[in-house]
Amino acid sequence: MATRCWWHWPAWLRTRPPLARSPLSSRRQFFTQEHIPQICVVGSGPAGFYTAQHLLKHHTWAHVDIYEKQLVPFGLVRFGVAPDHPEVKNVINTFTQTARSDRCAFWGNVVVGRDVMVPELREAYHAVVLSYGAEDHQALGIPGEELPGVLSARAFVGWYNGLPENRELMPDLSCDTAVILGQGNVALDVARILLTPPEHLEKTDITAASLRVLRQSRVKTVWIVGRRGPLQVAFTIKELREMVQLPGTRPILNPVDFLGLQDRIKEVPRPRRRLTELLLRTATEKRGPEEAACQESASRAWGLRFFRSPQQVLPSPDGQRTAGIRLAVTKLEGVGEAARAVPTGDMEDLRCGLVLSSVGYKSRPIDPSVPFDPKLGVIPNTEGRVVDVPGLYCSGWVKRGPTGVLGTTMNDSFLTGQALLQDLQGGLLPSGPRPGYAAIEALLSGRGVQPVSFSDWEKLDAEEVSRGQGAGKPREKLVDPQEMLQLLGR
Ligand SMILES: Cc1cc2nc3c(=O)[nH]c(=O)nc-3n(C[C@H](O)[C@H](O)[C@H](O)COP(=O)(O)OP(=O)(O)OC[C@H]3O[C@@H](n4cnc5c(N)ncnc54)[C@H](O)[C@@H]3O)c2cc1C
Repeated sequence: MATRCWWHWPAWLRTRPPLARSPLSSRRQFFTQEHIPQICVVGSGPAGFYTAQHLLKHHTWAHVDIYEKQLVPFGLVRFGVAPDHPEVKNVINTFTQTARSDRCAFWGNVVVGRDVMVPELREAYHAVVLSYGAEDHQALGIPGEELPGVLSARAFVGWYNGLPENRELMPDLSCDTAVILGQGNVALDVARILLTPPEHLEKTDITAASLRVLRQSRVKTVWIVGRRGPLQVAFTIKELREMVQLPGTRPILNPVDFLGLQDRIKEVPRPRRRLTELLLRTATEKRGPEEAACQESASRAWGLRFFRSPQQVLPSPDGQRTAGIRLAVTKLEGVGEAARAVPTGDMEDLRCGLVLSSVGYKSRPIDPSVPFDPKLGVIPNTEGRVVDVPGLYCSGWVKRGPTGVLGTTMNDSFLTGQALLQDLQGGLLPSGPRPGYAAIEALLSGRGVQPVSFSDWEKLDAEEVSRGQGAGKPREKLVDPQEMLQLLGR
């Protein structure tokens, strides 16, 4: 960005400091209309919106365009966060405020890397921020993984949350036992949705189609399998508490897995200590008569299976579907969170008709011009600045890998925004005017792509609310992109 000293500008301009509320504002900079920093963000999940929020808050004139491949905004807040956690989705209100700013625009239905390439965006904007998340799931890499009945937990989550590409998933829930591989929060989300009485899910924004399938579900037992032990689980206490208190279910924990843990938990940090204490209580504490009777009568169960590593998905006799999973028994080498699971040589077969793998995600490369670390599955960067590509930044899961909650993504995105503003102020970004959306609109229109604006989304939003259970109640999510486009008169 070309910077000029403030005394070069007419008096009326000198009264409007563009970086007024910014920590960077000690050196004031002024921009004419043509010199407005044009910034583009790829991805409208939390990382995209938090980055945009930071840029708009700390630069008075910057303009931010957010490109999104889905027709609708908000990424995993809409398509990942569990429907029975509506309070988590309140961040949508903040994102909406950002999108409604007259210095921000949302352009959905634009796949970057297909409809428009990153070099084209870099040509049109002063800076580009890649915040496109981590959409691929880690494969298990074991025989039988391709059998019907094996799904990624991410696809299952997308299915019940109305992600268009997962709407045809139709999981077969006619078996009595499901196995979830992985012991993180997503694994617990999936277990909870499988076991929650459907009448409770009715009160959420779960899609109507998935609720119909869940009503017919015969799944009675869900095993949540991890390679390591109770001290290494990746889920958090809130999600565990919800499982322990899930109506009509009982936990199955093997007290043997917890032997000697009572003494060791004194040394672990407080959040893990509290989590492990809850696990210990659930596994070993004697229940009062009322609670015991309640658990006796429970028709559904969930269990944590520790020290087990998946080796093979076992086929049914006709080879047509999943009939079980072979697990290698493991033991720990080392201590604490860094302990490694190594096989003992023993094996165990667990009968099940559904295997959901929840062993992690990874980002994919977006465009050949963007550096990508295939091993770590992230864009190589220093504090959000993409290595060796000036003017290109990244935030969120594609920057640091698919870990952490919304708060982590927020902090990380603010840091990227800060780095970008520092570079802008330091004169490190291209100088001279940039056309921004005007240039990209022409490209997209020539390619037959029709972007969806934020006001279009607000029409769809109103439609979902009106089809739902009334104002302030769960919406009925639109799932079919064709129907959405029709509603927008396209
Ligand atoms: C199943 C699940 C449940 C979760 N539940 C919680 C929870 O309850 N609480 C919590 O705090 N955290 C939760 N998280 C974590 C939280 O969702 C993440 O921290 C956060 O979403 C990461 O933000 P992001 O913007 O990097 O990625 P995303 O949210 O994935 O956003 C990326 C966006 O980029 C878009 N995109 C991808 N490729 C392109 C492209 N080529 N062109 C244009 N756009 C593109 C995607 O469509 C998406 O909208 C959950 C995560 C998962 C997977």
